Amino acid sequence: CGIVGAVSANNIVPILVQGLQRLEYRGYDSCGVAVHQGGELRRSRSTSRVAELRTMTEDDGVASGTGIAHTRWATHGAPAVHNAHPHFSRGQIALVHNGIIENHDELRDELKAKGYVFESQTDTEVIAHLVHHLYAGDLLEAVQGAVLRLRGAYAIAVFCRDEPGRVVGAREGSPLILGVGTESGTQADPTARYLASDAMALAGVTDRIVYLEEGDVVDLQLGKHWVLARDGERFKPTEREVKIVQ
Ligand code: GLU
Repeated sequence: CGIVGAVSANNIVPILVQGLQRLEYRGYDSCGVAVHQGGELRRSRSTSRVAELRTMTEDDGVASGTGIAHTRWATHGAPAVHNAHPHFSRGQIALVHNGIIENHDELRDELKAKGYVFESQTDTEVIAHLVHHLYAGDLLEAVQGAVLRLRGAYAIAVFCRDEPGRVVGAREGSPLILGVGTESGTQADPTARYLASDAMALAGVTDRIVYLEEGDVVDLQLGKHWVLARDGERFKPTEREVKIVQ
């Protein structure tokens, strides 16, 4: 239901969790956060309030400059911790998703035949394994290839254990925006790049927003970002200064 993602020189976990809190108004049944920490993927998930998730991350010492977070409104698979996002594939790919993948059954059968083991009943988990299957050292290429196979509606945010400092997003039929870190303010980090399903999630973090178009794939790295449009064009998108009213 709601997505937040970030790359930064600083610890982004408080920003991710705060972003989820700002998206709580959309409604959700579970929430979760995953980060790149100690060379591994780490995650906390809960069927309780985002405030509970915040406590879990603080107690577990979850801290990183690369991560993604999600509030879920279940469409496929019951509201439960094992169905909560982020979903992992083989300890290498972490992914959150808003929307519905219509051809999930077909993709699941195909991926099971390739040896992938499913831990949830969600349509989302097929995307995580598909990205893993297509991954050959470049996350952007893997996500570009994966979205070509998806039917339905999605906004996704993905990162890879082997590429800290990088988050890739994509959208089709569900909203997704990019935020560019600012020079000043309490959360100042001009190298930071953010993803969110709603600019509201970045209130107080940045007011430099790019509204992504249908079919866009976006590459976030420290101090740089690129958009790949559906027609294959790669460009630096136009930012707008947005006054986020809370
Ligand atoms: N279809 C996905 C699920 O049920 C995502 C739902 C959402 O947008 O929160 O897990």
